[in-house]
Amino acid sequence: MANDGRKPTTTDAGIPVPSDEHSLTVGPDGPILLHDHYLVEQMANFNRERIPERQPHAKGGGAFGRFEVTNDVSAYTKAAVFQPGTRTDLVLRFSSVAGERGSPDTWRDPRGFAVKFYTSEGNYDMVGNNTPVFFIRDPMKFQHFIRSQKRRADTNLRDHDMQWDFWSLSPESAHQVTWLMGDRGIPRTWRHMNGYSSHTYMWVNAQGQKFWVKYHFKTDQGIEFLTQDEADQLAGTDGDYHTRDLYEAIQRGDHPSWTLHMQIMPFADAETYRFNPFDLTKVWPHEDYPLIEVGRLTLDRNPTDYHTEIEQAAFEPNNLVPGIGVSPDKMLLGRIFSYADAHRARIGVNYKQIPVNAPQAPVHSYSKDGAMRVQNVSDPVYAPNSKGGPQADTASYPESATWEAGGEMLHAAYTPRAEDDDFGQAGTLVREVMDDDARTRLVSNVVGHLSDGVSEPVLERALAYWRNVDKDIGERIAKGVNRG
Ligand code: NDP
Repeated sequence: MANDGRKPTTTDAGIPVPSDEHSLTVGPDGPILLHDHYLVEQMANFNRERIPERQPHAKGGGAFGRFEVTNDVSAYTKAAVFQPGTRTDLVLRFSSVAGERGSPDTWRDPRGFAVKFYTSEGNYDMVGNNTPVFFIRDPMKFQHFIRSQKRRADTNLRDHDMQWDFWSLSPESAHQVTWLMGDRGIPRTWRHMNGYSSHTYMWVNAQGQKFWVKYHFKTDQGIEFLTQDEADQLAGTDGDYHTRDLYEAIQRGDHPSWTLHMQIMPFADAETYRFNPFDLTKVWPHEDYPLIEVGRLTLDRNPTDYHTEIEQAAFEPNNLVPGIGVSPDKMLLGRIFSYADAHRARIGVNYKQIPVNAPQAPVHSYSKDGAMRVQNVSDPVYAPNSKGGPQADTASYPESATWEAGGEMLHAAYTPRAEDDDFGQAGTLVREVMDDDARTRLVSNVVGHLSDGVSEPVLERALAYWRNVDKDIGERIAKGVNRG
């Protein structure tokens, strides 16, 4: 049979090519001819294969799956994706934060946990982390925080002095830094960690009642971590350890799953709660707001093309569906702008037409033209119009996830409340959640980190920071760096 039954190689225009191996030359030993357009196409395409990597969260992996609702939470939200019995397709991307696309998976770092639900009411994205809190509470500091975690201008090296300089001058980071330096700072695999919304969101039910909520995707595989030594060794021998683990688990049919639980706060509680419930550096104690089960997320399909399905996947916390809204969390409100802006800069204005980002729900938008638009636009191209174009259905989809706000415009921290300190919950984590062995590993991890290039006056500030988290842990760390 001609070509052994294999498909003929073609150009990108579908034209069969004469050779996969030889360029067009003048005689076997002569010069290459510029009109070998297939050779030119291969070289030109190769030169353009890379798109800018994400800044941050560049290194990651992901898979496809489904979310199945197992409990009735319709009293809290009307969102179709969370109604009893609903099953929704999704894509989930895991990532580390500070490294570049080729960095080792096992560096100590928070992990991204970004989910795109293809719901019947449009795409719903929950762009979370494996930590319930974050380093800062105002988006003004985010860019600076990430720069302090990445590379210096002069050496192009990462630098612990720069990291502790920022952290020790930003005491609101103490809870997340304690978490990061503890066992959960290096998960064994992406399958063995939780995902949290971290932010507070709003849920609205069919009657218009509002609730403040936090999402907890708890791993059904159990929490497992790597010690610093194990992680360092893997960073040298298998930089793609987490990427490989996820792919191979799904490939062998060992489908990882997470059970979604919510913390739900009645709308009025936020007003009088003892600390600001929208502060991203704080958790809500389980005792105050117990976890309520919602359903199960399962990953069961690997991508077949990493670039089109994962690298170009664009998650954005502004993708909220009816029944789910934002909260006064300033970090969340900042992210509502910055994610979509990052995608426009990185993959182009029409990124929502790339299949992994395209909703399963119909699109009736007035967006038009722009680079790489592939979906046809039809008239009328403006609103309002009398030509039968789409029209906002305000009666069915009112702006319902709202709250009242007032005051003078100013640059200021949140209004202080009784328990709004920076160190309390970090101390609780050390004293009441960690056991003796975990505390010893925490001390060892921090001592190792501080002993690697942290100089005065940053070191002294870092030691004061740890004494504020917990006096005893602070003393042990000081002793570890010979300052006790
Ligand atoms: P709880 O005892 O009810 O909850 C403690 C939670 O801590 C556990 O449920 C678990 O979260 C998590 N945890 C267990 N071991 C570790 C560890 N080594 N590193 C980080 N987290 C761990 O107490 P509270 O709700 O009152 O919270 C006490 C402290 O626990 C908080 O200050 C916070 O640091 C931490 N925490 C609280 C969470 C919350 O949402 N309330 C969530 C995560 C941590 P999980 O069940 O999610 O695995």
